[in-house]
Amino acid sequence: MSKISPEENKLDSTFGHWVKLQHSDFQGNAKCCTCGRYYSWDKLQAGHYRNRFDKATKYDERNVHPQCIQCNYFKSGAQVNHAEFINRKYGAGVSQELDRKAKMGVCQRKRYDFIFMENEYADKIRELLPSKSPEIQLKMKQYKRRKK
Ligand SMILES: [Zn+2]
Repeated sequence: MSKISPEENKLDSTFGHWVKLQHSDFQGNAKCCTCGRYYSWDKLQAGHYRNRFDKATKYDERNVHPQCIQCNYFKSGAQVNHAEFINRKYGAGVSQELDRKAKMGVCQRKRYDFIFMENEYADKIRELLPSKSPEIQLKMKQYKRRKK
Protein backbone atom coordinates (compact mmCIF):
# COMPACT_ATOMS: atom_id res chain seq x y z
CA MET A 1 0.00 0.00 0.00
CA SER A 2 1.36 3.37 -0.94
CA LYS A 3 1.89 5.92 1.76
CA ILE A 4 -0.19 9.02 1.81
CA SER A 5 1.01 12.42 2.96
CA PRO A 6 0.01 13.94 6.31
CA GLU A 7 -2.08 16.51 4.39
CA GLU A 8 -4.02 13.84 2.51
CA ASN A 9 -4.44 11.87 5.72
CA LYS A 10 -5.90 14.91 7.47
CA LEU A 11 -8.27 15.58 4.59
CA ASP A 12 -9.42 11.94 4.66
CA SER A 13 -10.24 12.25 8.35
CA THR A 14 -12.15 15.54 7.97
CA PHE A 15 -13.95 14.40 4.81
CA GLY A 16 -14.93 11.16 6.57
CA HIS A 17 -16.34 13.05 9.54
CA TRP A 18 -18.31 15.30 7.20
CA VAL A 19 -19.73 12.32 5.26
CA LYS A 20 -20.98 10.69 8.46
CA LEU A 21 -22.39 13.88 10.02
CA GLN A 22 -23.94 15.08 6.76
CA HIS A 23 -26.01 11.88 6.49
CA SER A 24 -26.95 11.57 10.18
CA ASP A 25 -29.77 12.96 12.30
CA PHE A 26 -29.62 15.24 15.38
CA GLN A 27 -28.48 12.37 17.62
CA GLY A 28 -25.93 11.29 15.06
CA ASN A 29 -27.71 8.16 13.88
CA ALA A 30 -27.39 7.21 10.25
CA LYS A 31 -28.34 4.32 8.02
CA CYS A 32 -25.68 2.12 6.54
CA CYS A 33 -26.04 2.86 2.81
CA THR A 34 -25.88 -0.81 1.84
CA CYS A 35 -27.73 -2.81 4.52
CA GLY A 36 -30.02 -0.04 5.80
CA ARG A 37 -29.35 -0.69 9.49
CA TYR A 38 -29.07 2.31 11.80
CA TYR A 39 -25.88 2.99 13.71
CA SER A 40 -24.39 5.83 15.69
CA TRP A 41 -22.26 7.94 13.36
CA ASP A 42 -19.07 7.15 15.31
CA LYS A 43 -19.65 3.41 14.71
CA LEU A 44 -19.96 3.97 10.97
CA GLN A 45 -17.23 4.32 8.37
CA ALA A 46 -17.08 6.50 5.29
CA GLY A 47 -17.58 3.80 2.66
CA HIS A 48 -16.41 4.39 -0.90
CA TYR A 49 -18.30 2.98 -3.87
CA ARG A 50 -15.28 3.34 -6.18
CA ASN A 51 -12.50 2.51 -3.78
CA ARG A 52 -10.16 5.11 -2.33
CA PHE A 53 -7.36 4.21 -4.73
CA ASP A 54 -9.38 5.72 -7.57
CA LYS A 55 -8.21 9.26 -6.94
CA ALA A 56 -10.65 10.94 -9.34
CA THR A 57 -13.68 9.80 -7.33
CA LYS A 58 -12.06 9.63 -3.89
CA TYR A 59 -13.67 12.89 -2.71
CA ASP A 60 -16.74 12.90 -4.96
CA GLU A 61 -19.59 13.36 -2.48
CA ARG A 62 -21.81 10.99 -4.47
CA ASN A 63 -19.21 8.25 -4.08
CA VAL A 64 -18.91 8.13 -0.28
CA HIS A 65 -21.60 7.33 2.30
CA PRO A 66 -21.88 6.07 5.86
CA GLN A 67 -21.42 2.34 5.91
CA CYS A 68 -21.24 -0.22 8.71
CA ILE A 69 -18.08 -2.23 9.29
CA GLN A 70 -19.85 -5.43 8.20
CA CYS A 71 -20.60 -4.00 4.76
CA ASN A 72 -17.52 -1.84 4.29
CA TYR A 73 -14.91 -4.23 5.55
CA PHE A 74 -16.24 -7.77 5.70
CA LYS A 75 -18.29 -7.47 2.51
CA SER A 76 -15.59 -5.40 0.79
CA GLY A 77 -17.89 -2.42 0.39
CA ALA A 78 -20.92 -4.34 -0.89
CA GLN A 79 -20.31 -2.54 -4.17
CA VAL A 80 -23.41 -3.74 -6.04
CA ASN A 81 -25.67 -2.56 -3.23
CA HIS A 82 -23.77 0.71 -3.01
CA ALA A 83 -24.33 1.28 -6.76
CA GLU A 84 -28.07 0.69 -6.27
CA PHE A 85 -28.11 3.14 -3.37
CA ILE A 86 -26.34 5.81 -5.44
CA ASN A 87 -28.72 5.40 -8.38
CA ARG A 88 -31.74 5.65 -6.09
CA LYS A 89 -30.36 8.71 -4.33
CA TYR A 90 -28.88 10.73 -7.19
CA GLY A 91 -30.65 9.31 -10.22
CA ALA A 92 -30.31 6.44 -12.66
CA GLY A 93 -26.88 6.11 -14.19
CA VAL A 94 -24.91 8.02 -11.55
CA SER A 95 -23.00 4.90 -10.44
CA GLN A 96 -21.93 4.35 -14.07
CA GLU A 97 -20.90 7.99 -14.26
CA LEU A 98 -18.69 7.43 -11.22
CA ASP A 99 -17.28 4.28 -12.86
CA ARG A 100 -16.29 6.32 -15.91
CA LYS A 101 -14.89 9.15 -13.81
CA ALA A 102 -12.81 6.69 -11.75
CA LYS A 103 -11.27 5.25 -14.91
CA MET A 104 -10.33 8.63 -16.33
CA GLY A 105 -7.00 7.92 -14.76
CA VAL A 106 -4.53 10.40 -13.49
CA CYS A 107 -5.78 12.80 -10.89
CA GLN A 108 -2.89 14.60 -9.32
CA ARG A 109 -3.39 16.73 -6.28
CA LYS A 110 -0.66 18.80 -4.76
CA ARG A 111 -0.05 19.45 -1.10
CA TYR A 112 -1.94 22.72 -1.36
CA ASP A 113 -5.03 20.99 -2.80
CA PHE A 114 -5.30 18.74 0.25
CA ILE A 115 -4.93 21.69 2.61
CA PHE A 116 -7.50 23.72 0.67
CA MET A 117 -10.02 20.86 0.55
CA GLU A 118 -9.50 20.03 4.22
CA ASN A 119 -10.35 23.63 5.09
CA GLU A 120 -13.51 23.46 2.98
CA TYR A 121 -14.76 20.32 4.71
CA ALA A 122 -13.84 21.66 8.15
CA ASP A 123 -16.03 24.69 7.28
CA LYS A 124 -18.84 22.41 6.13
CA ILE A 125 -18.66 20.51 9.45
CA ARG A 126 -18.73 23.79 11.36
CA GLU A 127 -21.90 24.74 9.48
CA LEU A 128 -23.51 21.37 10.28
CA LEU A 129 -22.76 21.39 14.00
CA PRO A 130 -25.64 23.65 15.16
CA SER A 131 -28.07 20.98 13.85
CA LYS A 132 -26.40 18.25 15.94
CA SER A 133 -26.67 17.21 19.59
CA PRO A 134 -24.47 18.87 22.26
CA GLU A 135 -22.53 15.59 22.60
CA ILE A 136 -21.58 15.66 18.94
CA GLN A 137 -20.74 19.35 19.10
CA LEU A 138 -18.42 18.66 22.01
CA LYS A 139 -16.77 15.74 20.29
CA MET A 140 -16.21 17.76 17.13
CA LYS A 141 -15.19 20.95 18.87
CA GLN A 142 -11.91 21.10 16.97
CA TYR A 143 -13.96 22.10 13.91
CA LYS A 144 -15.94 24.79 15.69
CA ARG A 145 -13.48 27.58 15.22
CA ARG A 146 -13.00 28.94 11.76
CA LYS A 147 -9.46 28.45 10.58
CA LYS A 148 -7.37 31.38 9.52
ZN1 LIG B 1 -24.22 -2.25 6.46
